[in-house]
Amino acid sequence: KELPGDPRSDVISRKVLHACYSKVSPSVQVDDPRLVSWSESIAELLDLHPKEFERLDFPLLLSGAKPLPGAMPYAQCYGGHQFGRWAGQLGDGRAITLGEVLNSKGERWELQLKGAGRTPYSRFSDGLAVLRSSIREFLCSEAMHCLGIPTTRALCLLTTGQGVIRDMFYDGNAKEEPGAIVCRVSQSFIRFGSYQIHASRGKEDLEIVGKLADYAIRHHFPRIEKSMNRSDGLSFKTGDDDDDSVLDLTSNKYAAWVVEVAERTATLFARWQGVGFTHGVLNTDNMSILGQTIDYGPFGFLDAFDPSYTPNTTDLPGRRYCFANQPDIGLWNIAQFAEALAAAQLINEKVANYAMERYGDKFMDEYEAIMTKKLGLSKYNKEMISELLNNMAVDKVDYTNFFRLLSNVKANPSTSDDELLNPLKAALLDIGKERKEEWIKWVRGYIHEVSGGDTSSDEERKARMDSVNPKYILRNYLCQSAIDAAEQGDFSEVNNLLRLMKRPYDEQPGMEKYARLPPAWAYRPGVCMLSCSS
Ligand code: AMP
Ligand code: MG
Ligand code: MG
Repeated sequence: KELPGDPRSDVISRKVLHACYSKVSPSVQVDDPRLVSWSESIAELLDLHPKEFERLDFPLLLSGAKPLPGAMPYAQCYGGHQFGRWAGQLGDGRAITLGEVLNSKGERWELQLKGAGRTPYSRFSDGLAVLRSSIREFLCSEAMHCLGIPTTRALCLLTTGQGVIRDMFYDGNAKEEPGAIVCRVSQSFIRFGSYQIHASRGKEDLEIVGKLADYAIRHHFPRIEKSMNRSDGLSFKTGDDDDDSVLDLTSNKYAAWVVEVAERTATLFARWQGVGFTHGVLNTDNMSILGQTIDYGPFGFLDAFDPSYTPNTTDLPGRRYCFANQPDIGLWNIAQFAEALAAAQLINEKVANYAMERYGDKFMDEYEAIMTKKLGLSKYNKEMISELLNNMAVDKVDYTNFFRLLSNVKANPSTSDDELLNPLKAALLDIGKERKEEWIKWVRGYIHEVSGGDTSSDEERKARMDSVNPKYILRNYLCQSAIDAAEQGDFSEVNNLLRLMKRPYDEQPGMEKYARLPPAWAYRPGVCMLSCSS
């Protein structure tokens, strides 16, 4: 139905039945589109020569204002559970896919404009994106990739020259902000909710669940199709003690698929925990079937370690999506995904349970391996790690800087109590005498552990640890500094951060200030706390 008050009669928001997507034309009004930043590595991935970015019509093409030859723009239909409740149809309300690029390596990359105007899925919103949230998505998707975390990518960031009205959640005042568009890139933007929506619509649409599963498997999990019905394929014994039956994942590709999606999701979530990333809105419509980080909204990296940290004001006071809850939410989301496949009878309950079991096991394996590496240990030490995290929470120790400094601790058991904490001094600030003793105790245990079975030298351990503990992460306050300057027309800080975050594990002389703790102003609303709707 037509939206009341919308001046453009071509704009409709509706239930889209029996279809996975709708053809749309980008409808953003661009007065003066400008390219303000782009990623060299994504350009390379797409075989785009740097000269292309200088084309006069580049900003027009990448804002959707001028049709890209060969493109057939569309918006996807999907649904989702939002904050634990089924929300019905959502869909790409402000994302428009231009099409896919087939690169010289034969890889397919989908280009999607975020903020290019309304689609049939925009509901009550404008289909636009503001500069601050676009900068955050652009920078963070590249930063996450360089941290080694699966993610959708971003080719470029444009400003539209058009104002966008937003209610600032913390003062209730509407404000005009500069509009922007990010061109996102991934092999696919299909989400758990892409299956849920059709499963939720009953009989007629159940067939679509199967078709979309076939599509995803064929294009994005080709190994699964190839391994079907092969005698050397794997069978799995379920962990259920009362059930001795063997689950055969070689005869049902959907079973093998849901298990792989569960495992990829587990790996992704374990890596988030490793770097202190909090997604902020882990609704099932924001869960990629490829196991990538998708939809950068009110995300945040931990500064001081706080298990209950959430950057999302919309998630208060429940904190469903806080840092420590993420692993459980991953499982809950996998359960919803498996349920959609089960509703279409692609898998049975046993397979669904097995996928969840695999999620749990895979998560624990990955998480233990990551934490073991972060501490530079030769084997997992549960007690040592939980004691450390506990101490970090009590003393609000910076999650990133602590691990980076820990590699400087020497495995020398005769270090005196006075000197023991010296390498960690910059992370253990304002700690009282009593707490100091706790830390000395922990570091003693740590030195005992690393000087025990481990035969490697301090230098070797440091090199290993520094390759997994980033020096530079995209802290909220760094993003905000870049945003403040960009809103004044200066994009140099966006480009500085883009360059810096390319090598998060390297010492970068002259850039030390970017590893500093957040300044006092970082705690003002809008910096550490953001809402869903930007
Ligand atoms: P998110 O919380 O970002 O995952 O968004 C939830 C839903 O709201 C998705 O269907 C989005 O496409 C839609 N949405 C978010 N922002 C806008 C906007 N400015 N205009 C239209 N749809 C939006
Ligand atoms: Mg979303
Ligand atoms: Mg979003």
